[in-house]
Amino acid sequence: MAYDFDLYVIGAGSGGVRAARFAAGFGAKVAVAESRYLGGTCVNVGCVPKKLLVYGAHFAEDFEQASGFGWGLDEAQFDWPTLIANKDREINRLNGIYRNLLVNSGVTLHEGHAKIVDPHQVEINGERFTAKNILIATGGWPQIPEIPGHEHAISSNQAFFLKELPKRVLVVGGGYIAVEFAGIFHGLGAETTLLYRGELFLRGFDTSVRKHLQEELTKRGMDLQFNADIERIDKLSDGSLKVTLKDGRQLEADCVFYATGRRPMLDNLGLENTGVKLDRKGFVEVDELYQTAEPSILALGDVIGRVQLTPVALAEGMAVARRLFKPEQYRPVDYKMIPTAVFSLPNIGTVGLTEEEAREAGHEVQIFESRFRPMKLTLTECQERTLMKLVVDANTDKVLGCHMVGPEAGEIVQGLAIALKAGATKRDFDETIGVHPTAAEEFVTMRTPVAG
Ligand code: FAD
Ligand code: NDP
Repeated sequence: MAYDFDLYVIGAGSGGVRAARFAAGFGAKVAVAESRYLGGTCVNVGCVPKKLLVYGAHFAEDFEQASGFGWGLDEAQFDWPTLIANKDREINRLNGIYRNLLVNSGVTLHEGHAKIVDPHQVEINGERFTAKNILIATGGWPQIPEIPGHEHAISSNQAFFLKELPKRVLVVGGGYIAVEFAGIFHGLGAETTLLYRGELFLRGFDTSVRKHLQEELTKRGMDLQFNADIERIDKLSDGSLKVTLKDGRQLEADCVFYATGRRPMLDNLGLENTGVKLDRKGFVEVDELYQTAEPSILALGDVIGRVQLTPVALAEGMAVARRLFKPEQYRPVDYKMIPTAVFSLPNIGTVGLTEEEAREAGHEVQIFESRFRPMKLTLTECQERTLMKLVVDANTDKVLGCHMVGPEAGEIVQGLAIALKAGATKRDFDETIGVHPTAAEEFVTMRTPVAG
């Protein structure tokens, strides 16, 4: 049977755009549907605007430290509407770039909500199109628990468009988004409290990293409250919010921001018209080739709930395009050694196994750790300390994990990820000449293990 398209991609986010462009480049007839914004979460309400706000928040400490280097500044002023308007302008520019990327690579763009009507057919804006394969790349959506008063809370989707910077913000959650946004609000001058339901935030990260960030954020004056969870939120007559915790305590805030994870975006997608199955957490179930239980339908990115990071969605998009249309170039995505950063202030950068994971996996480990006050701060009052940690297999000498909390940790860990992927040993690290004077050189000068 002749189909309208070889591949119909639903969702023009990180993974969908990558798969569509490369599939078209390999000669396939491709369409992409997008209901909301070109570039998806990362470009519009994720990585990009978040990083711009983090840069904005970072100036607070730059101004503070400048006097140690002889700079005199009048009191610095911050204007939230200017930052948001400039951020919006940049995102609009990127939306245009994504449009050109798609159109110039020969992809047909359909703007509207797509619904699957049968395993080979999609309906959009009242029209139906057939396709040999359909790719679900619809991403995720913030999930706020339905406690009484949850309608008064916002998620990251709204935070990027607030009209003004709230004076008092309560951030709920202990993952990437909570920690990053708490840093943004705090840096920009809001009185910020982070509430996390467990003992210590950033579950899954190395314990030294989690504790170090806790200490640094506390030093900076952020209010961290662990073992704390909200029972209800009430709106007061002056517009502020009264928050009642499960332990009975009450807090007041102007904004309650929930960052408690993301669900797959499957709203009105028509999965009931297909044999696609969901896993027990509700994400689309796929095999190692991103094939769903319905033979003509594939899925990738946040909607499959594997690793919710843009570079992973990009790699999956590339793998799908190659497998379908350039099988001789197909290489599976390697999910080991994925480097990642949390753009908290200070940043976390990490790649490989945490100390806990290495021990659980049966490695006999050697731990190298260094904590120091970065050189840049020596002329300032700032007492911030940087943490660097290496987890090494004591028998093979292989470096299993690198972890850092400190300025530019995300930038530094990218290079280390290549070394780890190539199987670098501690001896390779030791034999590498440092770049002096940098903070990063500490990763090649740690000589004495702190724990075995
Ligand atoms: P998305 O990018 O979400 O794209 C899905 C697209 O599908 C959307 O544009 C949506 O509108 C569209 N869509 C949905 N349903 C339909 C439909 N029925 N019809 C038509 N279109 C539809 N990752 C990092 O690596 N680094 C970071 O710093 C980072 N920061 C983040 C910060 C925040 C606040 C958030 C929320 C996420 C962040 N992420 C970050 C995660 C990253 O954004 C996601 O992993 C990535 O965007 C996933 O790509 P995707 O293609 O799976 O989905
Ligand atoms: P995460 O899954 O990272 O964290 C969710 C947090 O919310 C956890 O601390 C979790 O606690 C807590 N939580 C979950 N449910 C509840 C509840 N009902 N009540 C109270 N707390 C709850 O999700 P995020 O929303 O922070 O981010 C989503 C994903 O987006 C990330 O996992 C990441 O993959 C990606 N991302 C990446 C970024 C980057 O690369 N820099 C930045 C931002 C997002 P517990 O640990 O106890 O389960």
